[in-house]
Amino acid sequence: MDTHTEEAKDTKDVQDNLKDVRNRIQLACEASGRKAKEIRLLLATKTVPDTKISAAIQAGETLLGENKVQELQHKYPRLRQHSHIEWHFIGHLQTNKVKEVLKYATMIHSVDRLKLGQALHNQLTKENNKMDILVQVNTSYEESKFGVSPEDTLALIESLSIFETLNIKGLMTIGKLNAKQEETRNCFRLLKKVQKQVIERGLPGVTMNILSMGMSGDFEVAIEEGATMIRVGSSIFGERMYPDHYYWNEHSAR
Ligand SMILES: *Cc1c(COP(=O)(O)O)cnc(C)c1O
Repeated sequence: MDTHTEEAKDTKDVQDNLKDVRNRIQLACEASGRKAKEIRLLLATKTVPDTKISAAIQAGETLLGENKVQELQHKYPRLRQHSHIEWHFIGHLQTNKVKEVLKYATMIHSVDRLKLGQALHNQLTKENNKMDILVQVNTSYEESKFGVSPEDTLALIESLSIFETLNIKGLMTIGKLNAKQEETRNCFRLLKKVQKQVIERGLPGVTMNILSMGMSGDFEVAIEEGATMIRVGSSIFGERMYPDHYYWNEHSAR
């Protein structure tokens, strides 16, 4: 195929896949007595070429998420002509990349330690700015995943709530992958339980309206368990070249 034909095919595939995902969201909502407009769809765009991302934007999508600061740095200017789109940062964030990520992101889903909160606060204070954040919780207790343990989440949020530059809007988790559906469901239930605990504590400046949970393989279950934001990549853009632990298992970078 020549490049033009290939691009046209990519565009059609992405737009067909999007219709399919939107339909799956609708069905999951119907099954659990929810409304599709309660669920915000974030497109996970790691490794996805611009043409495919543009196809999704043309189809009306507005929320994109990146895992790595470097990739966000490259994509942001190239897709900037779409002025209505919004980027969230969903990957592991090192403190030395904080300044850079704040240039592009409107929300950070992956705050999982006080040191990172402190680094964000320091930079935001310098800029006289604020940022919406979610706290990432490791609900599957897998070594390979980032996130604060469910037991330590409330204490972390209490500490973070002191930083007035951080709007703590909710929680994020990655459910157990390649697991039995019930195991994944338990991860999402646990996040919901932690959310309830935090709400009960009634911390000033902390709202817990967002639950960012559910990906291509498990977003229906996440919706049934109360997700308000789902992060979907491969169901829309096709399979990625690298396995996911390439993005998540970066303990050396910690
Ligand atoms: C890649 C990624 C997703 C989307 O994963 P898919 O299985 O491709 O839908 C969601 N959340 C995070 C944090 C990711 O890195």
